[in-house]
Amino acid sequence: MSGLSAQRPKATDHPASYWVSTGNAAPELAELTTDLQTDVVIIGAGFTGLSTAYHLQKAGVGCIVVEAQDVGWGASGRNGGMLPPRYKKGFATVAKHYGNEVTLRLHGLMHEAIDTVEAMVEDCRIDCDFRRSGQLTAAHSSQHLRSLEADRDWMASVARDKGARILDRRETMDEVGGGTLIGGWLDPRGAGIHPLNYTRGLAAALVARDVKIFARTPVLRLIDEAAGVRVETPCGSVRAKQAVIATNAYTDAVDFAPGRLDRRIVAINTSVIATRPLSANVAATVVPGRRMVADTKHIMNWYRVTPDNCVIFGGRGDITGRSDDPSVYSMLERQLVETFPQVDGAEIGHRWSGKIAVTLDDFPHIGRLSPQVSFAMGYGGRGVALSNLLGKLLARLARNEAIDAGPMSDNRFAPIPMHAFRIPGMQIVASWYRYLDAKAIRDERRAA
Ligand SMILES: Cc1cc2nc3c(=O)[nH]c(=O)nc-3n(C[C@H](O)[C@H](O)[C@H](O)COP(=O)(O)OP(=O)(O)OC[C@H]3O[C@@H](n4cnc5c(N)ncnc54)[C@H](O)[C@@H]3O)c2cc1C
Repeated sequence: MSGLSAQRPKATDHPASYWVSTGNAAPELAELTTDLQTDVVIIGAGFTGLSTAYHLQKAGVGCIVVEAQDVGWGASGRNGGMLPPRYKKGFATVAKHYGNEVTLRLHGLMHEAIDTVEAMVEDCRIDCDFRRSGQLTAAHSSQHLRSLEADRDWMASVARDKGARILDRRETMDEVGGGTLIGGWLDPRGAGIHPLNYTRGLAAALVARDVKIFARTPVLRLIDEAAGVRVETPCGSVRAKQAVIATNAYTDAVDFAPGRLDRRIVAINTSVIATRPLSANVAATVVPGRRMVADTKHIMNWYRVTPDNCVIFGGRGDITGRSDDPSVYSMLERQLVETFPQVDGAEIGHRWSGKIAVTLDDFPHIGRLSPQVSFAMGYGGRGVALSNLLGKLLARLARNEAIDAGPMSDNRFAPIPMHAFRIPGMQIVASWYRYLDAKAIRDERRAA
């Protein structure tokens, strides 16, 4: 197996995000300039790679992390920082497809994922505002509310979990402080973090525990040899018994795509805006309980309010194949004001985008490309908690232990058919979704 040799790419700056502007100092990391040897070499220093390193270090296994840009430069440093205790598909829907036993396993893993982040924050004393703020899934149509009710019922009857509850229209509107919502699903165990500070704090703790992390060091080739692996970077190499690929939606960032993992996901842009701090009076009317909120639209909006009263509002990004198309940000600004008319006129302080990795079945996947090379990726917009969990499981795989992540550890992580046509494909799907979302809202208004 080999990746493509490539010219040495220039390290790219972090995007000008709210998280960067409020971030703690980044740990000082060197580039790799020599040849090293270790037990496990990890490619990518986002949540997946750093969590793998954390769990290997805990188990006393040597590891080296190699990152093309900087710690948290990928999605891990630019996301919404929301840890919802739900998969993209609801539990009742998953149970219809996979049965109760598998769905119970998935339910347990989701809570283990959030607990894992909480335990790592505590163990490494990471200053990242981790808080069990509660996650609200806000229904934009009666049909979606019924599906949330089915999830609540499945959880209560099969998982014996009564942690989540359904909110009626009034309660939901009180929780959100805006929008046209039918009802909601509230799970107080959902959490929020400052994602960039989490990655920086975790990396600093790993370095303090003698884990080597190299930045501005793209892996150009991964060579699977008889007795181990070798990764080659522009000015040095690492030999190891095992390699872990933790590059998610940035798998093709430097033409690095062993096993054509890049064709098993579709990398999609997601964009975000953040207001400047609102006045205390206005801020008190926007998501007053400071929950993490996402709606049920196919083209979802999600939002939260920061400790310094900025509204972070996310949604669809560019789907033309370019990045940072300005029209995407104007659309988000319109949606922000439609949802929260009280913030009309607020200055937008930050606009940024990042890539998520979508899979055919909406689940991330963890597996092996060979006895010595494993990977985890494909989290969609649900990777903050799950990538940390799959990092923990990757650490087990790298130690040749068996794992059971239900359909996520299923190795049928197939290439996506007609991957070359993904951009026009996404545009068609996005138009269809926009139509469905608008129709559901129109139908609700008529019925009201
Ligand atoms: C705007 C946005 C908002 C989101 N909001 C949420 C949210 O609120 N909740 C949620 O659960 N999920 C959210 N997500 C998804 C979540 O951020 C990701 O699933 C998660 O961060 C993936 O982590 P990762 O470590 O696998 O990948 P990444 O953090 O993307 O890290 C991959 C790293 O690999 C590196 N790399 C690539 N190629 C090479 C190479 N050849 N050599 C060395 N390094 C390489 C890249 O530079 C990158 O740093 C969001 C994503 C985006 C973009």
